[in-house]
Amino acid sequence: MESKRVYLDNNATTMLDPNAKELMDSYFCQKYGNPNSLHSFGTETHTAIREAFNYLYEGINAKDEDDIIITSCATESNNWVLKGIYFDILRFGEKNHIITTQVEHPAILSTCRFLENLGVEVTYLPVGENGTLDPSKLEAAITDKTALVSIMWANNETGIIFPIEEIGIICKRKNVLFHTDAVQAIGKIPVDVQKTQVDFLSFSGHKFHAPKGIGGLYIRKSIKLTPLFHGGEHMSGRRSGTLNVPYIIALGEAMRQATLHLDFERNNVRCLRNRLEDALLEIPDVFVIGERSLRVPNTILVSIRGVEGEAMLWDLNKYGIACSTGSACASEDLEANPVMSAIGADKELAHTAIRISLSRFTTKEEIDYAIEIFKKSIERLRSISSSY
Ligand SMILES: *Cc1c(COP(=O)(O)O)cnc(C)c1O
Repeated sequence: MESKRVYLDNNATTMLDPNAKELMDSYFCQKYGNPNSLHSFGTETHTAIREAFNYLYEGINAKDEDDIIITSCATESNNWVLKGIYFDILRFGEKNHIITTQVEHPAILSTCRFLENLGVEVTYLPVGENGTLDPSKLEAAITDKTALVSIMWANNETGIIFPIEEIGIICKRKNVLFHTDAVQAIGKIPVDVQKTQVDFLSFSGHKFHAPKGIGGLYIRKSIKLTPLFHGGEHMSGRRSGTLNVPYIIALGEAMRQATLHLDFERNNVRCLRNRLEDALLEIPDVFVIGERSLRVPNTILVSIRGVEGEAMLWDLNKYGIACSTGSACASEDLEANPVMSAIGADKELAHTAIRISLSRFTTKEEIDYAIEIFKKSIERLRSISSSY
C-alpha cells in the first residue's frame, strides 16, 4: 500500500501544471529549432515563444514597450537588478544607497551584503510584529543618495503582502528606482506593473507551476540595466544565451493558468487555508503570524508553543505531510526562523515556526487529513516536551 503524502510546501516549490507539461513536451524531440533560425524549424518555435511572451505580458499587465527578460531563476533576476544598478549608478558614488527590508529572500539579502563590501550603503527596514511594513519608514529612509528600493511583493514565510502601490508612489515622488521580488505574489494575487509603478519585478516559474530553473525580470520601458551575461543579441542584448524554448513555453502556459485561476485562489484556496488555520487555532498556545486579510491566500506561518519546529517537521513527515520550518533556502541550519526573529518573536517561539503553504491542487481531503495529523502530532510532541 502506498502511504499517503500531502504536499503543503508550495512556497518552496510547486508541481508542474499538467497543461504546461503537455505543451512543452513536443519542444524537445519534434519542435527543437532555435527560434532565431530562419528556417521552418526556427519559425515554428519563434511563433510559440511569442505566444508564451504574450501570456507573460498579460499576466502582469506589462506594456508592449516594456521588457520581460527570461532568466534562469528569480535568484538571477534579483542579483541582476542589484548588481546592474551597481554598475550603472552605485559604483560612481554620487548615489550609493539601497533600501530593502530585513525579511527579503537570501537572493536579495546576500547580494546586498556583497554590495556593502564594495562600499554600497544598505538600509534594512524592519517589519512590525504582525509582519507588515510601514511605508512611512521607507519614506523617512530615502535620501538624495538613494538609488534603489528593493521590497518584496509578498513575504515567502508569513505570506504578508507589502503595500507595493504606496511604495511605488513614494519611489516615483522621490525619483528612486523601485524593484520588487514578486515571486510569492504571482498566481496568488493580482500583480499589475502599471497600477503599481514598479520599475523592475522578479518572478520564478517553479513557484507558480512552471518548471524549476526558469524565471524572469520585468524592466519598465527603456530603463538601463547592465547585463550580467554578455554575448549574442538574445533578448535584445539584455541577456545572452540561446532561449530555453520548452521551459519558456511552459512558463507562458503556467502564467496563463495562474491568471485564469486567480479567483479560484482567492476563493477556494483561501477557504481551504482558513479551514486548516481555524483548526490549528483551536489548539491552545498556537499562534498564527499576520492578519489573514493581509496575507496571500495560501500561506500560514504558525507557531506552536512547546513544539520545536524541526521535531514537528519530522513527525509530520512520518505521516506524509510536507511543510517547512521556514525558507527552504535557509533551512539547513538550525537557527531560529529569520523572519520570526525580524518580527520580534521571542527566541523560543521563533524555534517553533512551521510554514504551511497550499496550492490550487491541494484538496479538501488532504487538508482534513493534515488537520488530523497536526492535532495528533502536537499532542504527542507536547507530551514529551520539557518546556511545555
Ligand atoms: C523562491 C524564492 C526566490 C528564489 O527563486 P528561484 O527561482 O528558486 O531562484 C526568490 N524570492 C522569493 C521571495 C522566493 O520565495
